Amino acid sequence: MQIPAMANKIYTALPTTIFAVMSGLAREHGAINLGQGFPDEPGPEAIRRRAAEETLHGDNQYPPTFGLPALRESVARHYKRFQGLDLDWQSEITVTSGATEALACAFLALIEPGDEVVIFSPAYDSYAPMVRRAGGVPKFVRLTPPLWRFDRAMLEAAFTSRTRLVVLNSPMNPVATICPDEDLALLAEFCVRHDSTAICDDVWEHIVFETPFQPLIARPGMRERCVKIGSAGKMFALTGWKVGFLIAAPALSASLAKAHQFLTFTTPPNLQNAVAWGLDNSADWFEAMPRALAASRDRLAAALAREGFAVAPSQGTYFLTVDLAQSGVAEDDMAFCLRAVKEAGVAAIPVSAFYESDAVTSIIRLCFAKKDDTLDEGARRLAKARELSLKA
Ligand code: PMP
Ligand code: GLN
Repeated sequence: MQIPAMANKIYTALPTTIFAVMSGLAREHGAINLGQGFPDEPGPEAIRRRAAEETLHGDNQYPPTFGLPALRESVARHYKRFQGLDLDWQSEITVTSGATEALACAFLALIEPGDEVVIFSPAYDSYAPMVRRAGGVPKFVRLTPPLWRFDRAMLEAAFTSRTRLVVLNSPMNPVATICPDEDLALLAEFCVRHDSTAICDDVWEHIVFETPFQPLIARPGMRERCVKIGSAGKMFALTGWKVGFLIAAPALSASLAKAHQFLTFTTPPNLQNAVAWGLDNSADWFEAMPRALAASRDRLAAALAREGFAVAPSQGTYFLTVDLAQSGVAEDDMAFCLRAVKEAGVAAIPVSAFYESDAVTSIIRLCFAKKDDTLDEGARRLAKARELSLKA
């Protein structure tokens, strides 16, 4: 497609996101989609009914730009209950149209041209382009398997006097690790020392298995220098809903709200009300949902291991990763994923897509938030892809 000469060069240079590419190929080839992260169950019926009720009988005109008070109060209660946070719903919570918008608000509101933003790779694919569009300069910290951890030397090399922000995503998409406590402490130390703000992409906070989630905002010195981002889509397995939260101390929240008012201004009120109801009426869900997902994780991991794949542990998210090199596959992740979707009928995500340079190229990400039959057939098809790859 011809791109007009006047298009912004950051967008002109951007590829289509790997999620859209792989889901498109899955549709084209009739493949099982273990790529893009979404569950194949419809989500909690009571919450969907509530949204339907609100659509039919509630107020469907513009809600307030910060979000409906009912939802902001529920969000404050929710984080008190689950993470012990004391949040003032009026001055510290802004409702956004998904975490994606919340991230964009944070970058647009907090970056001055030339500011540096520390990003851990493999990084969720919206971070770097949005940082650049806001005038910032991404400084990548390259993480590698099997632990995907950063250390003091890596942070020393990345943080400078220009570091305005650091983006932390824990549990981490795509590699399914939880940032250990000592690493959170180290990152907090660097934020305080460099007077930097942490953008905490906590969208997977409820999808954790054996290891508990610890919010960075609760650590000493971080209450005033964190922007915590949540996603109701992830909380309630309703990924298309795009209801997100921006949580930050009042001064930061005031800036974030300015960015939000001209990005979307507001978020559909029927969905806000349904999420508010869900947060106050779903205590069981937040136990049952990760328990069910852990069973799916274990089912897919066991099926893949039986087929000879080297499966890494998954501490959280909808994902697990497989090391192709250790599974005897010589092809890189992208070549294998293209072969898998086109020739074996199963879509996966190559982790190299989450690096801008010097990518780790032997890891694929698989989504296990699927029915048992889908997982079993997905594992069989991945085994077929491996056979085809070995013969090629
Ligand atoms: N950040 C991360 C790390 C994600 O994995 C996702 C979605 N999977 C998002 C942000 C976007 O969340 P939302 O759908 O609420 O915009
Ligand atoms: N976050 C989802 C994933 O990691 C995809 C979101 C999207 O398609 N933009 O699969």
